[in-house]
Amino acid sequence: MTNYMKVSTKPGVWDTVIECDFCEGTGTVSGEVAVVDFMNGGYLKSAICDCTDCDGRGYRYLTEDEEEQFYAMPSVQ
Ligand SMILES: [Zn+2]
Repeated sequence: MTNYMKVSTKPGVWDTVIECDFCEGTGTVSGEVAVVDFMNGGYLKSAICDCTDCDGRGYRYLTEDEEEQFYAMPSVQ
């Protein structure tokens, strides 16, 4: 299921966007970062990172196909 959202990037201007599936709209994901440790050979540490799918915004813009589908929905006409 696609979650459409409205975001305002400029005052009074609303864009229709889709909630990012990858981070569920939070903009962050928990990942692992490599920590260099010369004594023990290094290890992985969990860390919160910006979502790479949406660049940490939590949403992404519609593709052309999705835009067509969105405007074809009776609820927005
Ligand atoms: Zn995301």
